[in-house]
Amino acid sequence: MEKEYDVLIVGSGVAGLYAALNFEPQVRVLMITKREQTVCNSMLAQGGVAAVVDTEHDDYRLHIADTLIAGGYQNDLHALQILVTEGPKDVLRIMEHMDVDFDRVGEQVQMTLEGGHSRRRILHHKDSTGREMTEKLYAAVKKLPNVTLIEHTQLSRLTPVPGGFWATLLQDGDIRQVACSYCLLCTGGIGRVYPYTTNSAIATGDGIALAYELGARIKNLHYVQFHPTAFAADEGRERFLISEAVRGEGAKLLNAAGEAFMTRYDERGELAPRDVVSRCIIEEAQRQGSEKFYLDIRYKGEAFIKDRFPMIYARCLEEGVDMTKDLIPVFPCQHYLMGGIDVGLFSNTTVDRLYAAGECAHTGVHGLNRLASNSLLEALVFSRRATYDIARRMRHEPSGVTAPPPAVDASGKPLPPGIRTRIRGIMQKAWFVKPDYAAAREGLQIADDILRDLHTGGYALSADYVEANSLATVCKIIMEELLEEEKQGDPRMADNR
Ligand SMILES: Cc1cc2nc3c(=O)[nH]c(=O)nc-3n(C[C@H](O)[C@H](O)[C@H](O)COP(=O)(O)OP(=O)(O)OC[C@H]3O[C@@H](n4cnc5c(N)ncnc54)[C@H](O)[C@@H]3O)c2cc1C
Repeated sequence: MEKEYDVLIVGSGVAGLYAALNFEPQVRVLMITKREQTVCNSMLAQGGVAAVVDTEHDDYRLHIADTLIAGGYQNDLHALQILVTEGPKDVLRIMEHMDVDFDRVGEQVQMTLEGGHSRRRILHHKDSTGREMTEKLYAAVKKLPNVTLIEHTQLSRLTPVPGGFWATLLQDGDIRQVACSYCLLCTGGIGRVYPYTTNSAIATGDGIALAYELGARIKNLHYVQFHPTAFAADEGRERFLISEAVRGEGAKLLNAAGEAFMTRYDERGELAPRDVVSRCIIEEAQRQGSEKFYLDIRYKGEAFIKDRFPMIYARCLEEGVDMTKDLIPVFPCQHYLMGGIDVGLFSNTTVDRLYAAGECAHTGVHGLNRLASNSLLEALVFSRRATYDIARRMRHEPSGVTAPPPAVDASGKPLPPGIRTRIRGIMQKAWFVKPDYAAAREGLQIADDILRDLHTGGYALSADYVEANSLATVCKIIMEELLEEEKQGDPRMADNR
């Protein structure tokens, strides 16, 4: 590994990979990923990517309007316009030049519908769109001579120095320091701060905690999306998602008595936005005194189900549920983060030379609640825009780090067990579908105690330490935001029903 790079990209999901593909060939890029390249939320995306590519039947204004409705009109309109109007070009580019294979009917790309969309505008690859995109973008990145990609390498510290940063990396138990002129954080979401989540194991909010420690502005971190229909397994932290597209294709949501109930709460029924469906489930659970809920798509027939949802069908079978014959047990769980490291329209954070894109960033496009399939689009559009700004600065400003690397003492004792469990307990109590402000007050004190101990307890610098610190930092910020929200009034109460 060289010691100095123009750009360090942290993360190899769709945001990181697409950024790497947008740099000029003379830009020296180091891309790191803390586990295997395949472990990321991008690989898990099922439903698809939303884009107005069929301008005969769809319109940018409709996509913007749908996103505003889902987001409770709290979206950043300028960023949203950029997302919707620039996104289709990125989607067509990955399809035409990077071999991403979206499903077709004959020559035409096949569009599907998802909750909150007023038009069929979701491009998909069966029910494993994220895997298809990630694998194809990864294959394209591997061909780039200017990009070095290293797995099992975790960013643990970022030290700003004149001309850039020193990055402290944990690699197979060793510590390495590399210098970079610019750093682009594409570290993904925070799902692992909850006991149950659809997110992959990497989603511990590392980039957000690192940026926060550097003084970057963090915005709306408590804008967490709970997916209404995760597979309700008896065990395991990572919940398998029953994609929105299953409801898009007509599946009914049933309560414990086998009754469809959604239209009693919302005229849009099963296709209401996610936060609305999640709240309806929680209200119905309270009404009926049971947390048992099901999706029913059996009437579509075996051939359709197996062809349209091969991955979901196979995963359900592994859990002993044949969705062509059985009801699928579902319940809400943490799914997506709308807030994050606050960025401008070129993904620039409030810290010089630090950029963020993808799920870790807050561009403002989603507002209170993300419209389905807008996040892969956001990862493409705003990671590309980060590269424009970095390239512009590289042309006009001197770069290169001359300061020596900071001293790092990694020695210390191992972490005691139980920290993550305590943090997850706080989150589930204070903020699951509906906020509990009293629990947030108590949770903030505990999170502060945990962080104090982490910072003064003499613990060794390890992957475990970095993630525990990230989770505790994320938890603390969310508790603080919830308490601020208590003063201002819960914006979800003026919801989008
Ligand atoms: C089950 C599921 C289904 C979804 N379905 C859809 C969908 O249909 N449509 C849609 O638009 N969106 C969907 N999403 C959301 C979407 O997949 C994500 O928002 C998006 O893929 C995030 O991409 P990303 O590149 O920002 O992060 P990720 O793909 O999560 O990548 C994060 C990367 O950061 C790395 N990393 C993290 N911390 C460190 C560190 N300290 N050091 C080094 N590397 C680090 C990780 O190793 C990883 O490579 C879904 C999400 C899930 C979980």
